[in-house]
Amino acid sequence: MTFKTLDDLNDIAGKRVLVRVDLNVPVKDGKVTDATRIERVAPTILELSKKGAKVVLLAHFGRPKGEPVADQSLGLIVPAVNDVLGKQVAFAQDCIGDKAKAAVDALKNGDILLLENTRFHKGEEKNDTDFAKALAANGDIYVNDAFSAAHRAHASTEGLAHLLPAYAGRTMQAELEALEKGLGNPKRPVVAIVGGAKVSTKIDLLTNLVKKVDALVIGGGMANTFLAARGTDVGKSLCEHDLADTAKQIMIEAATAGCAIILPEDGVVAREFKAGADNQVVAIDKIPADAMVLDVGPKSVEAVNAWISRAETLVWNGPLGAFEIAPFDTATVAAAEHAAARTKEGALVSVAGGGDTVAALNHAGVADDFTYVSTAGGAFLEWMEGKPLPGVDILRQK
Ligand code: ADP
Ligand code: MG
Repeated sequence: MTFKTLDDLNDIAGKRVLVRVDLNVPVKDGKVTDATRIERVAPTILELSKKGAKVVLLAHFGRPKGEPVADQSLGLIVPAVNDVLGKQVAFAQDCIGDKAKAAVDALKNGDILLLENTRFHKGEEKNDTDFAKALAANGDIYVNDAFSAAHRAHASTEGLAHLLPAYAGRTMQAELEALEKGLGNPKRPVVAIVGGAKVSTKIDLLTNLVKKVDALVIGGGMANTFLAARGTDVGKSLCEHDLADTAKQIMIEAATAGCAIILPEDGVVAREFKAGADNQVVAIDKIPADAMVLDVGPKSVEAVNAWISRAETLVWNGPLGAFEIAPFDTATVAAAEHAAARTKEGALVSVAGGGDTVAALNHAGVADDFTYVSTAGGAFLEWMEGKPLPGVDILRQK
């Protein structure tokens, strides 16, 4: 890896370390309902504090569009941060200027300070140099631990790294190391599973993957678009008929790159989209005209699991079926369990991400058994699309 980490940061007692973290947690009635994101950045904060740094946290919260909005103040989440860290965190009502400076000046070695929402200033999302300089005035060192914000070139995620010595925090480091193993420099064969609802949201992702992986399993609603493009009648299934040419193009690019495309051989069909709906397994060329495919069938699961058995590396985005409604979670759960078992044996590197994918792996009870499950959302998808991540690239250059 070509970026610096906290291992390269010694003798930092008394140094002001600006740490970009993701504290964009869900809040209901003034209370944090899920502290996962705070938990993820806690190790970096506590490590720096233990080394005697003055830890100054930078984060955004919601979408306040460049001006202060009371219910998007990071002050609201201070109690939750205190709870997770087991330490009292100071708070400043601005992230730049006199208020920020006074709060930073008051810090003793090892203290932690949270600055107000960076998006209360227009300069943040514009990556304005003067705003970045105003942030940098309160730090000697910059640490970025917010992979989930790294697909945006904002002042606190990218601009600051031009102005201060820059390092990856522990969460950023873990994410980058996992992604490197997944697609950067993976052990082959590499198999990708892509599912979910629609091709239209994943064209860039599919186009990038066929160039990088040895086999691409396509499941979920989007498989119907590929099947229909091939001439299969998919009945009432979710299907983007207008994307037939796109699907064909992706299959051509896969053939050119030597990437096998694995489409379902059978499906579980129903007449209603609801839990417990009457359902049956049919061969993929026998989908009744009045039915829709809500999961891939048992033969398809066998094929997917055979590819997982052959693979050294698996990258996964998108469930194989409508996993939110039983029994249409069956294929997703079966493939997830098999991938988890192979990972536990040490035979497979498994990297997964995506909002619904994380939910599906949690539902299957195997998220902890995967090599890495990314909760980064947009940044993870842009990485799978092969797009540059400005917040990561600037760390690599430094
Ligand atoms: P992620 O959030 O992990 O990127 P997506 O949002 O692309 O995943 O896809 C998840 C959605 O796809 C789920 O809501 C699921 O119900 C839906 N889905 C999967 N298979 C089907 C299907 N055969 N028909 C309709 N919807 C499906
Ligand atoms: Mg989703």
